[in-house]
Amino acid sequence: MKVFKFGGASVKDADGIKNVLHIVEQEPNDLVVVVSAIGKTTNALERVVNARWEHRDEDAINEYIALRQQHQTIAQQLGLTKDFQNTLFDINPVTDIPLMTNYDEFYDAIVCQGEINSSRILSEFLQTHGVTNQLLMMTELLTTDDTFREAKVDYNAARRIQDAIRQQQKHVYVTQGFIGGTKDHRPTTLGREGSDYTAALLANFIDAESVTIWKDVNGILNADPRLTPQTILIPELSYDEAVELAYSGAQVIHPKSIRPVENKKIPLYVRPFTNPQAVGTVIHQTNKRVNVPVYIWRKNQILITMRAKDFSFILEESLSHIFDIIHRHRLKVSLIQSSAVTISVCVDNNRYVENAIEELSNAFAVTYNMNLSLLTIRGTTPQILQREQDGREILLSQTTRRTARFVVKEK
Ligand code: ASP
Ligand code: MG
Repeated sequence: MKVFKFGGASVKDADGIKNVLHIVEQEPNDLVVVVSAIGKTTNALERVVNARWEHRDEDAINEYIALRQQHQTIAQQLGLTKDFQNTLFDINPVTDIPLMTNYDEFYDAIVCQGEINSSRILSEFLQTHGVTNQLLMMTELLTTDDTFREAKVDYNAARRIQDAIRQQQKHVYVTQGFIGGTKDHRPTTLGREGSDYTAALLANFIDAESVTIWKDVNGILNADPRLTPQTILIPELSYDEAVELAYSGAQVIHPKSIRPVENKKIPLYVRPFTNPQAVGTVIHQTNKRVNVPVYIWRKNQILITMRAKDFSFILEESLSHIFDIIHRHRLKVSLIQSSAVTISVCVDNNRYVENAIEELSNAFAVTYNMNLSLLTIRGTTPQILQREQDGREILLSQTTRRTARFVVKEK
């Protein structure tokens, strides 16, 4: 059994979904196909959530109708029946899902629709083209706790998923990335871009032979091709190096998706969906190190600096206090630096940052800078360092022998 994961970009339109059929047809092994929401659906659903939350019901409905139309058009282009088309996005986001007191729970109840609908379309389309398949609902099978928007998967889910996948004598299973559900059947999500993580978890649960993440790039490159004209494909990576890259901000793979495959030594391939014959990158057990410099940008960062308000500053005590606040407010730390009297942390900008800064300000004199990026260069050389620092406004830097990290102003 193999696990294939198709992201939003690879199923962004009818042609993309036809391409999935093509790739699935070519594969002789039994498959679990994990799919993300179509294109930018998750962003659109976030707008529905926010509109509803702010009582802009008309905006919510309009946004939702646009999504319904987009999905129905794709289904129509794929030759799926009118009856089927009518079942897509067929809830009313205002009357069918009550506003809850918990924003995050409400968010998950709406946002999960993206993956539910994309997986239904894919399953139906494969079926009509002779690829018999079974649609599995992760809202029922992938049980999680109730940390909505960042749900933790309950490891008992493994059993349920093994049963679901082995009991049926089907060649192909289609299911949703990114979403799960609590034991009492409330939908949850695992964190943005979490479909890779789902694919890795399922592979772990069913002892898959491999996981393949089909992407709109040739594999893992040494720099983001949207920012750098000349990039080099990295043919293989160890699990640890892959985690480092992903954590530094390489968008090609979600940081949480490495450990589940590493635990069972399952190779994870990143391959281009437009060129299924190409080898791409494999992440597996190897002692080989990447031998080209790798540039990774983590955008939309905030640098928060905390300074002691009095003279009794004790680094260890302050650190635990600071990280307690950071953890409770779900900030994602990308870099830490400390001196005798200050601690600086670079974090992803998200909706919780403001409250966290407020709470930190009770105990420390806090200053912060927004609109920053964190540039990590692995395998750096003195020449590269020189070149990359020229002309940039650098707020903070951290360099070791092989790795340099700069917090810079976004241009
Ligand atoms: N659809 C979700 C998102 O856009 C999950 C994913 O794409 O991996 O964040
Ligand atoms: Mg995505």
